[in-house]
Amino acid sequence: MNIGFIGLGNMGGGMAANVLRAGHDLTVHDLRREAATPLLENGASWADTPAEVAAASEVVLTSLPGPREVEAIALGDSGVLEGSTSGKVYIDLSTSSPTLIRSIAEDFAAKGVSVLDAPVSGGPVGARTGRLAVMVGGDREVYERVKPALDAIGDKVSYIGPVGSGSIAKLMHNCIGYGLQTIVAECLTLGVKAGVDPEPLFEAISNGSVGRGSSFANTYPNTFLAGNFDPPSFALRLAHKDVSLALELAREYGVPMSVGNIAHQELTSALNRGWADLDSRVAMKLQEERAGNVEVRIEKADADALEA
Ligand code: NAD
Repeated sequence: MNIGFIGLGNMGGGMAANVLRAGHDLTVHDLRREAATPLLENGASWADTPAEVAAASEVVLTSLPGPREVEAIALGDSGVLEGSTSGKVYIDLSTSSPTLIRSIAEDFAAKGVSVLDAPVSGGPVGARTGRLAVMVGGDREVYERVKPALDAIGDKVSYIGPVGSGSIAKLMHNCIGYGLQTIVAECLTLGVKAGVDPEPLFEAISNGSVGRGSSFANTYPNTFLAGNFDPPSFALRLAHKDVSLALELAREYGVPMSVGNIAHQELTSALNRGWADLDSRVAMKLQEERAGNVEVRIEKADADALEA
């Protein structure tokens, strides 16, 4: 396949090298020409503008800092749209705005050019080694057609839904990650201030169910996603007791616990619904109500498949 790649930074540099390694013809562009040097030495061609990249390629990939750059490169002067003709495909790998990519897709469709959003997760090491999750939004038939290009950059390429869906999934993923980072910082500082050495503390948490990632591997699929809270695998009253004890310790040692206190209030509100003996994940239903009666449920068979 003739592939174009624009944005050869920490992520794009590694991904573009893997596109080349998979045997595709590659045309590249970046603001910093030096970022292209290793690719040009391995057979890639240089283009002076995004429009020239698009003219030379069946599929154009971009990996840019954010919405401002994506909009400029896609729609601006000498941009991807300007150099594209009907039947080509533009795929944005950046973490960017779902609303923007939906609007870009409309502009491109007017010229017969398909658009996918396909943000990635796995960091620069994953970009270099090809171990990336690629979350793809857009037309499924277009996705199937260009999958070989995406398989060159990631080992977990999945179709999420219509254009914008990949970006939504990626933003939710990162928001979860940084929410977790905040509570991890709270609990590590409290644990150390209360007298445990950082190394054994970190190791203990890593070895526990949280550290092993069991929430996503089986707890959420079996409880919250399945709507299954009875019988409990860990009762709400016990979870409430544990977080209460952690916050007592925080008061004793003078460590502020912003997210810990929010978690405690959530569990308290759930207790007041009469849910003490249900599974503790039942507390997640409170947010479903506040979000406007959104229900996050998965059919049993699909939840079982997720658990794999
Ligand atoms: P980066 O800043 O290292 O790379 C961005 C590249 O885009 C640079 O080479 C820059 O010169 C180029 N660029 C910027 N504006 C340009 C323009 N107008 N024309 C041409 N080239 C332009 O950023 P990164 O870490 O590679 O991240 C790229 C995207 O991937 C971001 O959206 C980021 O959120 C996402 N992402 C990053 C990571 C990570 O761990 N770094 C992980 C997953 C996703």
